[in-house]
Amino acid sequence: MFNFKGIRVIDCHIHIMGGADGIGILKKQKERYGYDKVNILSLEATGSLQNAKCLAFKLLSPGDYAFAGLSYKSDDDFLSQAKALYDLGFDGFKMIEGKPGPRKKIGIPLNAPVYDPFYSYCEENGIPVLLHAADPAVFWDESKAPSFAKESGWLYTDGTFLSKEEITQEVIGVLEKHKQLKLILAHFFFMSDDLKRAGDLLEEYPNLYYDITPGTEMYVDFAQDTAIARAFFEKYQDRIIFGTDNYDVDPQEEKEIKDVINSLMYSFLFDDKPFKAWDLELHGIGLSREFLEKILHKNFERITPLQGVDKAKVIDFIENALDHANKEEELKELSEIMALITEL
Ligand SMILES: [Zn+2]
Repeated sequence: MFNFKGIRVIDCHIHIMGGADGIGILKKQKERYGYDKVNILSLEATGSLQNAKCLAFKLLSPGDYAFAGLSYKSDDDFLSQAKALYDLGFDGFKMIEGKPGPRKKIGIPLNAPVYDPFYSYCEENGIPVLLHAADPAVFWDESKAPSFAKESGWLYTDGTFLSKEEITQEVIGVLEKHKQLKLILAHFFFMSDDLKRAGDLLEEYPNLYYDITPGTEMYVDFAQDTAIARAFFEKYQDRIIFGTDNYDVDPQEEKEIKDVINSLMYSFLFDDKPFKAWDLELHGIGLSREFLEKILHKNFERITPLQGVDKAKVIDFIENALDHANKEEELKELSEIMALITEL
């Protein structure tokens, strides 16, 4: 679908919603877009049994990566959970805990001491953490928030959510305490409208990274001044990581949305010319091969040692998850996945 000029692409940011069919869709999608590897991110913290699905995906799609999520239902503390999950073969951790909704529901500041043993463990063992913190600024503004955000419950104006700056400060609190932590902030930390500040943070914290997973607003911001955006990408070529937020969509309409988004990212990185995505007037920065190699795979590979997974351990883990499934849907999905694995 795209001409990557022989450059391998790792998509560091995908998700799974369904069961066995979802795994099949994700594998086909990766092939269709021509990505060499993907990293599947668990949303366990939202209360669903995502670690089991993501670990199964890693087993069924050899060579791909999976980041685990912490559970807030488990009796085990975060450090014990992290050790067990890393020993199972997860390659890192995903935290959705900094998105305003989950942050409010969980009620624990990102820089709270209760997380410190977990962050320290990741820090000491060189394990990356990919954190979704905050959201686009317009989600705090009723008149400017897009309708999809309102429909998804992502309008944060009723006074019960933290502000964007409060969440940003919690992240800075984590970085201050854990300077060696390899922290990837998802969606450019929603700072594409303030490249000065985004750059200052990268200067201050040498183990900080941004993924450039859309929010399309990011690419609208970058198009405001292509020269400045290109200069940023060139200066921080070692700190930027490619991701898409692809997930196991099947219905045609959703598929078309994903096609536009994936093609938007390609045009932005590879072409130095204007282009359109829906009604958005965007502009590429046409990076040179050396920079593309880093952003598309080298940076992620450098900070994320790929672990192996063991079939018997995965089966044990899913069996245990099945015991804890309390939604019928989840039980069905995990059983289907289990059947796929036992066929291996
Ligand atoms: Zn995501």
